[in-house]
Amino acid sequence: MENKDTQKIRKEVFQKLGLNEVEKGIFSGSWIKGTSEKIIKSKSPIDGTDLSSINAASEDNYKSVVKTSRRAYEEWSEVPAPKRGEFIKKVSTALEDAKRDLGLIVSLEVGKVITEGQGEIQEMIDVGHYATGLSRQLFGLTIASERPNHRMFEQWLPVGPVGVITAFNFPSAVWSWNSFIAAVCGDSVIWKPSSKAALTAIAVTKIVASVMEKESIPPIFSTICGGGAEIGDLISKDQSIPIVSFTGSVATGRKISKNVAERFGRSILELGGNNGVIISSKADENIAMKGLLFGALATAGQRCTTTRRAIVDSAIYKRFVSQLKDSYSNVKIGNPLENGTLVGPLIDEDAVKKYQKTIAEAQNQGGKILFGGNVIKIKGLEGGFYVEPTIIEANGKVKISEEETFAPILYVFKYDTIEEAIRIHNSVPQGLSSAIFTNDIREEEAFLCSTGSDCGIANVNTSTAGAEIGGAFGGEKNTGGGRESGSDAWKGYMRRQTVSKNYGKTLPLSQNVEFKLS
Ligand code: NAD
Repeated sequence: MENKDTQKIRKEVFQKLGLNEVEKGIFSGSWIKGTSEKIIKSKSPIDGTDLSSINAASEDNYKSVVKTSRRAYEEWSEVPAPKRGEFIKKVSTALEDAKRDLGLIVSLEVGKVITEGQGEIQEMIDVGHYATGLSRQLFGLTIASERPNHRMFEQWLPVGPVGVITAFNFPSAVWSWNSFIAAVCGDSVIWKPSSKAALTAIAVTKIVASVMEKESIPPIFSTICGGGAEIGDLISKDQSIPIVSFTGSVATGRKISKNVAERFGRSILELGGNNGVIISSKADENIAMKGLLFGALATAGQRCTTTRRAIVDSAIYKRFVSQLKDSYSNVKIGNPLENGTLVGPLIDEDAVKKYQKTIAEAQNQGGKILFGGNVIKIKGLEGGFYVEPTIIEANGKVKISEEETFAPILYVFKYDTIEEAIRIHNSVPQGLSSAIFTNDIREEEAFLCSTGSDCGIANVNTSTAGAEIGGAFGGEKNTGGGRESGSDAWKGYMRRQTVSKNYGKTLPLSQNVEFKLS
């Protein structure tokens, strides 16, 4: 598939996906031009070239999208769930047909290497299949009643339009985690994508809109491009959006969750991570090295599950860290559209500045750079945002290692006992993903027991990154506590109703209460 020229690829995929130089920015049954004065500029971080201009939505646009979405919900919620699932299956097929071109748009707009761009679309296809199966499994419980001739059960009902606000780094997959599950549950969805990845959202929406039209489905999927502080804020404060699923930074999540809680709405929060791996002297070091490299370097360190801290057994520390440096020196950094590239660009100039600031701060705090630390310019891609993957020896003194910097910076720590390793591991405010590499069953269990990893995801002998869609995804502490997609996460997109039914000829009361007129 190799073609390294962003503009040539842009021309080809724009034609295939029906994308334009100027896009209207809102889909709500039909495409509507955003009427705020703002234009969202989609640029490629690969070389800084323009991809498209997108009209941003105004408050009036937002109100009309909510109205349309509510009407769509009212119709859709009455469609039997398995029929809803059949529609999502068709959406999956359409995404499969467009996989190559959509994956390339992801690579162009957010700089993912080709295999990761394609993987992002595959994830949407997989979630679609998962949601289709789920549409026949939205089970409730039956409960034994203490009253004679009574039946108790719980049922799960749709809730209405769900607001889905997404981050730039998984510009389409995260939408599908929420939207396909919400749709089979009978909800409609209003998507506010990141302004850094609005073109990907438009490309995905065009495919989905064509399936909705062909299948005569009410516009259950709406997309509204606009500023976070404007449209995102409206969603979080809107009483008519019962559930807001937010994926993004801890700082933004904190604002959103306050707004949603203020009006007693429900939020599903998928916030930042600061993921650690413990590498024991009892590990298969080959597997540990591969897992660490993928975790630390994939998506140029811009995954919520990126490995940011390696906590290494002092018995192997020196050798392992030296081999890690050797591996880093063999990593190809550059054009993500070129075969063999493992690390593409950061998303924008701002991300590069944060990378530089964090490294300077880490050094001030006593951290020692073991590898990298520099911004790099790549010949022919001078407008792109490339940095060297960086390893910093932290060992207890580098406070900034407690923060998530969205860049390929890995802090290394040394430990003597497994208890110390777990203590270092759990010493950060975030709690998304974690891993231990060991072949010792006692160490594994120490990591998996209640005093072990405090994260939502705990892996043994595999990376912190690259979660499968079947498991509930999300984390604890500052990561927000939300769960999207797998396991029973579907319950987050529905409301539970407990039903008690009396089919007898008297009215017995619970707890033997007597209530008789004298
Ligand atoms: P961000 O917080 O800057 O933006 C996320 C979204 O929020 C965007 O759509 C943005 O426009 C919107 N937004 C901004 N201000 C808002 C406001 N005041 N009200 C409502 N919405 C607002 O995050 P980002 O830089 O796009 O993404 C990176 C972050 O996302 C990282 O912290 C990463 O760990 C996190 N993330 C978490 C997960 C997870 O599942 N836990 C997955 C992907 C990304």
